[in-house]
Amino acid sequence: MSSPRETLRIVIAASEAVPFSKTGGLADVAGALAKSLGQLGHDVTLMLPDYFLLRQNNTSLPAIHDTGLRFSLMMNGRAVLGAVNWTTLPNTNVRVMLVRQPEYFDRRQLYQEHGQGYVDNCERFCFFSRAVLEICRQMILRPDVIHCNDWQTGLINGLLQTQSNGRPGFERTGSVMTLHNMAYQGRFWHFDMPLTGMDWRYFNPDQMEAWGDLNLLKTGVAFADQITTVSPTYAAEICTPDEGYGLEGLLSHRRDDLVGILNGIDDDVWNSETDHHLATPYSIDTVATGKRQCKAHLQRRMHLDQRPDVPLLGMVSRMADQKGFDLITGAAERILAQDLQLVFLGTGDPRYEGQLRDLAQRYPSKVAVEIGFDESLAHQIEAGADMFLMPSRFEPCGLNQMYSLRYGTVPVVRKVGGLADSVENFESESQSLQTATGFVFAAYSKELLAETIEKALGVYQQPHIWSQIVRNGMSRDWSWTRSAHEYVAVYRKAIERRKRQSP
Ligand code: ADP
Repeated sequence: MSSPRETLRIVIAASEAVPFSKTGGLADVAGALAKSLGQLGHDVTLMLPDYFLLRQNNTSLPAIHDTGLRFSLMMNGRAVLGAVNWTTLPNTNVRVMLVRQPEYFDRRQLYQEHGQGYVDNCERFCFFSRAVLEICRQMILRPDVIHCNDWQTGLINGLLQTQSNGRPGFERTGSVMTLHNMAYQGRFWHFDMPLTGMDWRYFNPDQMEAWGDLNLLKTGVAFADQITTVSPTYAAEICTPDEGYGLEGLLSHRRDDLVGILNGIDDDVWNSETDHHLATPYSIDTVATGKRQCKAHLQRRMHLDQRPDVPLLGMVSRMADQKGFDLITGAAERILAQDLQLVFLGTGDPRYEGQLRDLAQRYPSKVAVEIGFDESLAHQIEAGADMFLMPSRFEPCGLNQMYSLRYGTVPVVRKVGGLADSVENFESESQSLQTATGFVFAAYSKELLAETIEKALGVYQQPHIWSQIVRNGMSRDWSWTRSAHEYVAVYRKAIERRKRQSP
């Protein structure tokens, strides 16, 4: 084993990271993990695509410089040029390398527009993956470990193991693949294989091929030294046909190399005491008054009746099948028969966007919907709501329930994936008053969702119980340091495995 105190040279490759780009939890994780690993004393480089158009008007970003490095990759017989910009993660010594390729990355969104993925997504992220190794080589980064995230970077593991490993600069580079969501696998038709730069012989059911397609997530898993996912429960779930999305066989086969590490939350970004988005920041000791003011502000902003007494339920989410919107719309009439308010922020599937807009039109004093991506409003909902809804069909980890707990907003969640690992159900005053942090239901059913909300509303009317549940949640430790230590242990295992397997 490498010494537990040895400093590691770590390259994290991701398609998005806060504060540079974000569509979901991956961005929070990539940014916060890089920062935590840096704070533990490791040498960390974060590699991202440079979404130049999207970052241009973002004044909160640090200054970004040109490294001067240029490279060219053959993409299916065509030479494509790339450049590399650099900066550091704010308040850290983590290097950030931004892969600049205007044709691929100067778009209005990261992956899709109007619900349709960009047709050249395979090409864009094969280019990015290949660029990561090229930059490591040219900048002599000599990583001990490369940590890949989701399908967009899965190819790196294949290239590393079949082409780079053992070569100068990659003498003992271990690889780690983190699965943030099995539903997105980067499946493309097999004619895209030449874009990968890998030999056709790897296009087989054990490595890069799945059900006739090129599968970049599978590639990442098949070639990785270690595999992680973002909660212990999800690690078990993805080895089953229900949640493995066709890769359960490979994942079960690699079960000994697969571990679930619950995400943390970034205290600099999600901290109710210092959050500059809030009308009134608050702590566990001032939560009652702080929340009252944040709630009034949210009701004003969302044009809802200004009533301090009415329970307000919030939801911030990608509008995708995964997130349980069919349960909410299915149970809406029953839920809205209660005296409550609902606030939704999200964007995604036009079907759910439309259904929620309809609901807001029919119940204007009770339902408010904002379609779009709005970081500031997301924080204000976390602070201003009394409860937070996450009735997910599946949930690899989920961050919003942890943000909610930190903000004293009681989560109502389905018992699945990371939600099961992070929210403790309130059973009754005698059974779980000192430990409960939220309301949890098991079966994916709209009746059960409505019942659980009704139970939560009943407890909300008993302030001595409610305030204890709020305090229980706010006292939990979700620091990234805990998770970062677990990742370092996985990195060391990956390095050891590589050493054993290399001649
Ligand atoms: P997922 O990664 O599946 O989308 P998570 O709960 O892990 O779900 O993370 C979602 C992250 O994205 C959270 O930080 C959440 O606040 C944020 N988010 C999702 N949709 C929006 C939106 N419309 N506006 C602002 N933030 C959003």
